[in-house]
Amino acid sequence: MPSDIFRNYINGEWLTGSATVANVSPANIADVLGHFAQADAAQVEQAIEAASAAQVVWERSGLEQRYQVLMAIGDELIARKAELGEQLAREEGKTLAEGIGEVYRSGQFFHYYAAEVLRQMGETADSVRPGVEIEMRREPVGVVAIITPWNFPMATAAWKIAPALAFGNAVVFKPANAVPASAWTLTEIISRQGLPAGTFNLVMGSGAIVGDRLIHSPKINALSFTGSVDTGRKVAAATAVNFVRCQLEMGSKNALIVLDDADLELAVDCALNGAFFGTGQKCTASSRLIVTAGVHDRFVAALIERIGQLKVGHPLREGVQIGAVIDEKQLNQNLRYIQQAQADGARLACGGERISEEQEGFYMRPALFVDTRNDMQINRDEVFGPIACVIKVADYEEALATLNDTRFGLTAGIITQSLKYASDFKRRAKTGCVMVNLPTAGTDYHVPFGGRKDSSFGPREQGQYARDFYTVVKTTYVRP
Ligand code: NAD
Repeated sequence: MPSDIFRNYINGEWLTGSATVANVSPANIADVLGHFAQADAAQVEQAIEAASAAQVVWERSGLEQRYQVLMAIGDELIARKAELGEQLAREEGKTLAEGIGEVYRSGQFFHYYAAEVLRQMGETADSVRPGVEIEMRREPVGVVAIITPWNFPMATAAWKIAPALAFGNAVVFKPANAVPASAWTLTEIISRQGLPAGTFNLVMGSGAIVGDRLIHSPKINALSFTGSVDTGRKVAAATAVNFVRCQLEMGSKNALIVLDDADLELAVDCALNGAFFGTGQKCTASSRLIVTAGVHDRFVAALIERIGQLKVGHPLREGVQIGAVIDEKQLNQNLRYIQQAQADGARLACGGERISEEQEGFYMRPALFVDTRNDMQINRDEVFGPIACVIKVADYEEALATLNDTRFGLTAGIITQSLKYASDFKRRAKTGCVMVNLPTAGTDYHVPFGGRKDSSFGPREQGQYARDFYTVVKTTYVRP
């Protein structure tokens, strides 16, 4: 076992685990960010026990303490955004600008929920019984387990941990094993805030061991998960057995509609941004571009030209716009989808090949398919890579029907100058978020985020809506 291990944080102590994993940069496999402890099942239990004991202390903590803790975490993240953004870019493969932006956004989540701490108001009602008064107030839900994916290693953690702590809950946090460094750094910052021991616990490790133990535990009160649909289904089934409240944010197959009357330059910008930035590894990525016939050829030509200008390469290199794919397995899967789409009759208009960089890593050129149909596998599955497919349609009605013809429902976008179509689209797109003249990716931190169908399950995340998950309502009757 290496001597310089980044350890788990359980009950206020830094503990080694049963093994370690090396955190290897997907942008340069010679760049190892460190060795990170792997918790075993017993340590997961220890973390849950510690959180349960801390819960009774933390839920009685004053609002001022919680406000100060969250503000301090947010302040530090924002102050260290350049350093931590670089670490994030190295470990996940996204560009430096995207890494810095993510750390900054993570700080904003903590600041936002610091303010929410002070906004916890109850309600009162008169009783139907004379002389009786009623109060409705929210109480912490209890111990919250948090399981996160690799694509937004800091932000996803932040948008769950901040409200969990703000509403008085103890936390057991399991990050994705591909990106432990951002999780460890965030934990290190939290560990210096004087929280009661056990209020916040980090258990790094695999889904099969650490995740599995968490989702089957009857001792947690709520579980917030972001990840794939397949894993989400297991989480929902396991938590239901113990009546543990669960919230799932999962995959998607988002579409951007471009209508004949669209501002072409804006349409191309939004498609490029939504489909390829973040290496297409966003749950909000526009992987389907549904374009009406009148603008189709001009849109495709302009988009191909812009894709050709995209700089793919090492995330820390100046001017790079598209970084690395998360790992070899994902890269190979992307390449298999490219082959399958071609075999199914889609025409590869540009990109789609693996490329080498100075540093050995997992790079590919963004790919655009044209002449695709919505029933092709490439338009049904979430690929989670820099691959977009154009689907040509006759008119708005066909575009909308095509957009909604999917098992997913996270985000949807339309580019149009027509108020009539934009207004209709806002109501009829079967997704949790709708964008008009904006990319499908890119959301704010103070409003709810989530989807429908296979993309989401349970109460919404973010903004004030998050309290529905992180609190329980108590109704009190008083005869004074
Ligand atoms: P994943 O489902 O493989 O893993 C997500 C997390 O679950 C990881 O921490 C993993 O270790 C854990 N896990 C795996 N198996 C488990 C099990 N049996 N029990 C408990 N935990 C288990 O997903 P991923 O590959 O890390 O992330 C990519 C997916 O995340 C994509 O589908 C993407 O769309 C989705 N995602 C969704 C959103 C959203 O808000 N909707 C945001 C980001 C990513």
